[in-house]
Amino acid sequence: MSCLCNASKTYTKQAGPHLGEYCTACDTWIRWIPQPLDKYVWPLGSKHKGQLILAIAKNDRPYLEWAASSITNPKLKLKAQEALDYVDQSTNM
Ligand SMILES: [Zn+2]
Repeated sequence: MSCLCNASKTYTKQAGPHLGEYCTACDTWIRWIPQPLDKYVWPLGSKHKGQLILAIAKNDRPYLEWAASSITNPKLKLKAQEALDYVDQSTNM
């Protein structure tokens, strides 16, 4: 991906829970980069906001189970389910 200014160099920067790609020449935001599950930071809730999703899956599984079934945001719902599956797989090994 390149910028509207036609510069081809980009850099990445953490912006809150998101990892963004930006143009090196004009500092324009280009896109959000999907984050791997082990770096994903949960963006919601007074209790868990800002924590790594895998840490929540280990420390407060009921919360994430609730999120995976009841939350309205489909992307977060999926992430919650992914994190639960991931923790299950790593503990069953
Ligand atoms: Zn640019």
